[in-house]
Amino acid sequence: MKRIAIVEDAAAIRANYTEALRRHGYEVAGYASRPEALAAFRTRLPDLALVDIGLGDEVDGGFTLTRELRAMSATLPIIILSARDSDFDIVAGLRLGADDYLTKDASLPHLAARIAALFRRSDLAGASPDAEDIVTRGPLTLDVKRLTADWHRKRVDLTLTEFWMVHSLARYPGHVKDRDALMRDASIVVDDSTITSHVKRIRRKFQAVDPTFDRIATVYGMGYRWSSHADDAAL
Ligand code: CA
Repeated sequence: MKRIAIVEDAAAIRANYTEALRRHGYEVAGYASRPEALAAFRTRLPDLALVDIGLGDEVDGGFTLTRELRAMSATLPIIILSARDSDFDIVAGLRLGADDYLTKDASLPHLAARIAALFRRSDLAGASPDAEDIVTRGPLTLDVKRLTADWHRKRVDLTLTEFWMVHSLARYPGHVKDRDALMRDASIVVDDSTITSHVKRIRRKFQAVDPTFDRIATVYGMGYRWSSHADDAAL
């Protein structure tokens, strides 16, 4: 059974989500504060975390927790729950390593659908025996079973969303992927600006291990493509 952690200081909302997700067959644990959640996560990580931004006295406690969780696991799916539907919050959450975000006025079926989509993605790893397990494109190696990415044999810690976006782009170098194709391949439903911030974050992560990294090209008005270099085949 999949274990979901809900970190939300408003007791009524926490109870509401807990109840709804249990009905969907998940094991759910609720936490009212960041320290309480963090203590539990240090013992055992959930399979997915739903994290509210404002937690009691901590105005940005959810952002802090996202960063802490991401340091504990590069691939744990994290959804930011926001009462504040501002682009700033969304971009900030994604920048800290969240996979997705939802505003609190989203319906419970919508929440359940987004959670199911994230789980489908983490399950993809073991589920498709005929899929290409190791994708190698020049200096890039993607391990689809372990969900790891290496660039020139150095590990690039990608979130699940980022991993599947890179996978989508790198599988067919030179082919332009538009927003819809990227969303489909990464099983996410987001807007243009969210895709843009994911791509920026991916580029920064690759550039952290290789400042010359320039393989994800923006094709204005169309989408993104993975560029291959002439000497890729030799690597
Ligand atoms: Ca709150």
